[in-house]
Amino acid sequence: MNLERFPRVDLCHAPTPLEFMPRLTQHLGGPQLWIKRDDCTGMALGGNKARKLAFLLGDALQHGANHLVTLGALQSNHVRQTAAAAARLGLACTVLLEHRHPNPDEAYLHNGNVLLDGLLGAEIVHLPGGTDMPAALTQVGDALRAKGQRPYLIPSGGSNPVGTLGYVLAAQELLNQAREKSLHLDHIVLASGSAGTQAGLVVGVAAQNSSVGVQGFAVSQAAHLQHARVSALALATAQWIGDIPEIPPEAIRVNADYLGKGYSIPTPAMVEAVQQVARLEGILLDPVYTGKAMAGLMDWIRRGHYRANENIVFIHTGGQAGLFGFCDALSQSTPDSRHIEAPQRQKDI
Ligand SMILES: *Cc1c(COP(=O)(O)O)cnc(C)c1O
Repeated sequence: MNLERFPRVDLCHAPTPLEFMPRLTQHLGGPQLWIKRDDCTGMALGGNKARKLAFLLGDALQHGANHLVTLGALQSNHVRQTAAAAARLGLACTVLLEHRHPNPDEAYLHNGNVLLDGLLGAEIVHLPGGTDMPAALTQVGDALRAKGQRPYLIPSGGSNPVGTLGYVLAAQELLNQAREKSLHLDHIVLASGSAGTQAGLVVGVAAQNSSVGVQGFAVSQAAHLQHARVSALALATAQWIGDIPEIPPEAIRVNADYLGKGYSIPTPAMVEAVQQVARLEGILLDPVYTGKAMAGLMDWIRRGHYRANENIVFIHTGGQAGLFGFCDALSQSTPDSRHIEAPQRQKDI
């Protein structure tokens, strides 16, 4: 399979490291745990969307676009990385942010990704929860075109066949790294949202005739809905590339048991997973995606789902900026900081 004919912009720091997690592995006492550091793709705090944007922006430039338009939740990582990519290429950028939370606190409203969207120079349009976001995207695109701009519209999470190419290529990168380390990978585990990451990995793995399993933990909807979303996108992407071996239905593995009450709503297991990985490996996960996927992986390991000699690679898809938008959920469970009686500093005259 050759992806060279698809235009691409050099946006990512790649290959990203593939690292072993010795202390987490030992702590859980199960399979060998590796982590693919796609939080280190470099695009204004990194994350998985940079890989999709490399292809989306290649396509945008080929179409002569001068203005990117995209959408997401208020704390969207995808929107932040899109704003950064636009800045890097000197394109204008308008982002539509949906306010989905009924009782947002100050941090959620102003810190984290939304703070960075503004710093990166994106024009922000705030929309109430329940807005038909794809319709709003089309409407903003039409208005820009009427003003003589050349907009390029990017769907939720950059997850169309063009963006998904980023993870077809990432699968190739990961399998090459494993080969170089003489490492036999048994399972790839990741958070699954708008589905481009999982669909791209599934297609990339099939294209290489690898037997590694790709397990998605859904973070936004029920398992059967997420399964259908990943399948449809994998099929469309395989057709877009052409000449990919058929993807059997069982290659799409989705579990939604760790989603909790819904997208971006914190769960105790997510908080525990974020803390454990931080304290055992010095690696920061995020509260919306990787924290919930890791909660799933940790629970499955405790339940004996995997053998000790299996190698699992967790895809760190980024999202740490979101930590600062969810201070409340994450700081409640910090252990009490101790106070000591310290002498007073001498006053300067
Ligand atoms: C968007 C995102 C995901 C999910 O990737 P999809 O391709 O949308 O399924 C996972 N982790 C983080 C941090 C993200 O921002």
